[in-house]
Amino acid sequence: MTRFTKITASIGPSCENINTLTQMIKAGVNVCRLNFSHDTNDVQGAKIDMIRSVAKNLGVPVAIMIDIQGPKHRIGDFESEKHYPLKIGQKFILDSDSTPGDETRVQLPDLDVIHSLNIGDRILLNDGKIELRVDAVFDDAVETTVMRGDEIWSRRGFNLPDTDIDTDILTDKDKSDLEYAITKEPDFIAVSFVQRGEDIANVRDFITQRTAHPIKIIAKIERPNAVKRIVDIANASDGIMIARGDLAVELPFEQVPAVSRRILRECRKLNKPVIMATQMLSSMVHTEFPTRAEISDVANTAYLRADSAMTSEETTIGDNPINVIETMNKILAYSDKDSIEHPYDWCNIENIPENDWSRSVSSMAFLNKASAIVVFARDTDSATQISCRRPDIPIIAICSDDVIANQLCLSRGVFPVCDRYLFGQRDAFGAAAAFGIRTGKLVIVDDDKISLRTLD
Ligand code: PEP
Repeated sequence: MTRFTKITASIGPSCENINTLTQMIKAGVNVCRLNFSHDTNDVQGAKIDMIRSVAKNLGVPVAIMIDIQGPKHRIGDFESEKHYPLKIGQKFILDSDSTPGDETRVQLPDLDVIHSLNIGDRILLNDGKIELRVDAVFDDAVETTVMRGDEIWSRRGFNLPDTDIDTDILTDKDKSDLEYAITKEPDFIAVSFVQRGEDIANVRDFITQRTAHPIKIIAKIERPNAVKRIVDIANASDGIMIARGDLAVELPFEQVPAVSRRILRECRKLNKPVIMATQMLSSMVHTEFPTRAEISDVANTAYLRADSAMTSEETTIGDNPINVIETMNKILAYSDKDSIEHPYDWCNIENIPENDWSRSVSSMAFLNKASAIVVFARDTDSATQISCRRPDIPIIAICSDDVIANQLCLSRGVFPVCDRYLFGQRDAFGAAAAFGIRTGKLVIVDDDKISLRTLD
């Protein structure tokens, strides 16, 4: 069964060996995500080499996405392992003093952030379990009132959902990780805690000043101000990840599905692929079968015509990451087929001009009941743009090099094939035959020439 929705798999301790990675890629992984919040650069580098070698042995394109940590804020230390209760209505201070904290105060190691805070802003600690409201901001301290209480302990992360944070998107750690990462020529860099298009432009400058390798940049949407500026951010980036983990901390969680649909719709108009991320099959960290709700969540990713569904801890630390990919593959393939046979109306609403060439390609394929669209992909643009019109047949992309083939692994319904795997048949019919398509019609896109050819 042809699967149109791609699978992005987070790679971690459970699958960092050749056998498991081989089975996962055979089971359908299209993009491997490496989270640079963990491990040393050398360890990450060895994983990248392993993925590249497995993909080469299997003769399939697989993209590598490096996810940099970004400005994730943390509070300082408390006495040893002690937990402190914070109670509703009490005062709590965040300051520059590095002595261990208690139930009245704790250090804020990253003090720069104070200058972006306004009175009334919320500070969410420990995945939103504790909510503080800012009462006063000084040069070296913030006074707050506890609005939602829980226990607090050392090095908990915090989120600032109401605040436009005015610091560099790249921390010192990110810069050093990026310096290393680009030597490994990844296909994608995912940037965390993006707030505006300018953040992506800064990351792109950092990369292009150091390498000519054409790395694509994915903006992770996990802050309310990024949702507001989605058009600006999508225009500046090469794709979007809906990072539902932090997004559901910073936004009221009930808004996340609606926001996701809006992001998908905007990005389709702007020709940017979208990854739906986090907790897709979480229960499978320790179970063989997904919950009914997880099955629906993965299926809805296909029905909403996202480009990719992503696994997180179910593949990084799960008991059986191969089973997770097989499960996701099965759900997506079935739901893709069903959503093509019974399309949702909203998927067909397009603000794309009638004379847009990619819309013409898609309409030509639809009106002529074509079996496939074949694109000669000298870069990723044409195939990605046609993919964003969401035609209901495969887009076979004949790629002039491995990087283009890898990067197209993220685009919905695009089946990249590097021309050296076509064994000299560098033509549309050969490419279609390699996919088992031998009858019917092909829409062929070669630069600005669009033609219709009959196979039999
Ligand atoms: C998320 O928050 O959903 C996410 C994907 O980001 P990370 O795993 O880097 O926290």
